[in-house]
Amino acid sequence: MSTHVCLTARAFGANNVYFPKTNSTIEKSVTGVTERFGGDFKIKEEKDWRYLVRNWDGDVIHLTMYGEDIDKFFSSVNPRNPLVILGSQKVPREVYDLADYNLAVGSQPHSEVAALAVLLDRLNKGSIPKLSKGKMAVLPSKEGKRVINYRSIPTTDECYRLLVKRGTEEGIMEHTMAVLQRTLELYDIHGGDIRLLTAGALLHDIGRTVTHGVEHGLEGGKIVREMGWDKELANIVERHVGGGITREEAESQGLPPKDYLPKTLEEKLVCHADNTAGGNERFEELLFRTEKAGFHASAQRMRLLMEKFG
Ligand code: SAM
Repeated sequence: MSTHVCLTARAFGANNVYFPKTNSTIEKSVTGVTERFGGDFKIKEEKDWRYLVRNWDGDVIHLTMYGEDIDKFFSSVNPRNPLVILGSQKVPREVYDLADYNLAVGSQPHSEVAALAVLLDRLNKGSIPKLSKGKMAVLPSKEGKRVINYRSIPTTDECYRLLVKRGTEEGIMEHTMAVLQRTLELYDIHGGDIRLLTAGALLHDIGRTVTHGVEHGLEGGKIVREMGWDKELANIVERHVGGGITREEAESQGLPPKDYLPKTLEEKLVCHADNTAGGNERFEELLFRTEKAGFHASAQRMRLLMEKFG
């Protein structure tokens, strides 16, 4: 239960948890999560809990089913630097007096984890805080598990060095920088994983060091995989061409038959940034050329990306 309290506190943006006596099992498991998934959460020992409560520079909130209604409370109070007290089975009477507020999340018995989550959600005004990055991250996804290991995402510097090492032409280099700039603008509006987006934008045309044909996406994906970098990054590179390419279109264009449509948010944003990096005029021109070449479905997908991301 204590581990779950810590993990919940961390995930909902608390800075510290205080125990009268630290427990190495809890500490190991919570510190491990923080190292891997980020945040700045610390477990602290405070033998004298009364001292902590009495000298707290902020509001002390005790969560208990015998307290006042949380909704009523938040309609008139905006707590400052809160310290939250959670009990286990039996909480000494003096806690009720020491706390500035005794709050009930419904006047029914349930759990300290649930009560804490609801309170922190109210304190966060209903939005889940973003924690600083760790070694890895779980990316939001409608389809299922997307876990990214940042050690396999190249830094800006590594991307740049690869572009230079492979002899990227000057024009492509300039275009790449414009796509990066555009990707960052799109990130400001639509979010996504900034490290994945930056590396994706920088490497999207790495395949042009092999060919300028439609297969440059596929070739770029191969280069990224050969470097041992994340498959999420390889997919951004592989699926950025036009508005993406369907399996049928791939076959008719002599590409290995598979689906090259951008699927994740990051794949779509880099694809769209590539189409729009030159401003509106260039986008219209690109659509015109795509239509003229007979790729109507591809032009339509580019329009849809424009409708969605602007
Ligand atoms: N008698 C306890 C009480 O005062 O809420 C119930 C013990 S409960 C097993 C353990 C902890 O869960 C409590 O100390 C309290 O922090 C939290 N808790 C349980 N139900 C709650 C509720 N309805 N509102 C706020 N906190 C609750």
